[in-house]
Amino acid sequence: MTPAAFAVASTRRDTADTWTLELEPRRGPALEFAPGQFTMLSAGGGGEVPISISGDPATAARLVHTVRAVGLATQAICAAQPGEVLSVRGPFGNAWPVDEIAGADVVVVTGGIGLAPLRPAILALLRDRERYGRLQLLYGGRSPDQLLYEPELAQWPARGMEVAVTVDSAGPEWIGHVGVVTRLIGRAEIDGPRTVALLCGPEVMMRFAAAALAARGVGAERTYVSMERNMQCGIGHCGHCQLGPTLICRDGPVYRWSELEGWLGIREL
Ligand SMILES: Cc1cc2nc3c(=O)[nH]c(=O)nc-3n(C[C@H](O)[C@H](O)[C@H](O)COP(=O)(O)OP(=O)(O)OC[C@H]3O[C@@H](n4cnc5c(N)ncnc54)[C@H](O)[C@@H]3O)c2cc1C
Repeated sequence: MTPAAFAVASTRRDTADTWTLELEPRRGPALEFAPGQFTMLSAGGGGEVPISISGDPATAARLVHTVRAVGLATQAICAAQPGEVLSVRGPFGNAWPVDEIAGADVVVVTGGIGLAPLRPAILALLRDRERYGRLQLLYGGRSPDQLLYEPELAQWPARGMEVAVTVDSAGPEWIGHVGVVTRLIGRAEIDGPRTVALLCGPEVMMRFAAAALAARGVGAERTYVSMERNMQCGIGHCGHCQLGPTLICRDGPVYRWSELEGWLGIREL
């Protein structure tokens, strides 16, 4: 529960409301983490919130977080300047199954800020590219100016990951796909029984994506999702993030869709 002090080493504005911060420990070693894990982060004495680690697990000297400013705590984090000290607890939670799925085709489906929790998994897949079959990223944003990590989206195909991007709406200068990200699933070449899916985004997006993947033969037990719920302790004590029989901070945030779909069908659970 004891927070560690991390200093802001650099900040980058990704979109109108989203920043990427690189943090360095004030003392002690860098934070080792697995792709999919999160920290409990707080700036300026504001509230503490769960934020996924978005950096490369193989080069963890700096702790990287990509944060969308939606309320008081995230606004304080996004406003932090180089040199400012943030409080960090963690890393917490389980990981995307990047080792378990060696040999499979992998399709990553994500929307908006959901690409941040998946970036460490994508970097891990690309680092060991030869261990996997076909790699595809299907990424949706609200508009072209809301897309994250655009320079990397352009580089990943050369490293062996096919990338398809769609936006909900765009002006005439946009020559890519327009429409929700689940439509890309219908267009993609997917060999269902060989494929594992990794999903992160708004819950409604994940529900439609899981259904579209099931229609392409990717079963719910081969579809993994990262769940978001309000969290306070991060270590399974307070119960804020309970979903049915599971505490997301302790048992998640990554689950097989087959473990959750029944619970998510229950209104207001
Ligand atoms: C495991 C996990 C990983 C996360 N990773 C990231 C990340 O990498 N980057 C990032 O920007 N955000 C991430 N979030 C969401 C982030 O924790 C919330 O945006 C944050 O708690 C909002 O706090 P606030 O005080 O700024 O806003 P609040 O005032 O608490 O809320 C502002 C708005 O955001 C909504 N909201 C609050 N908490 C959540 C939540 N947990 N999930 C969805 N909506 C929420 C509220 O309903 C409200 O509409 C993650 C959440 C979890 C559980």
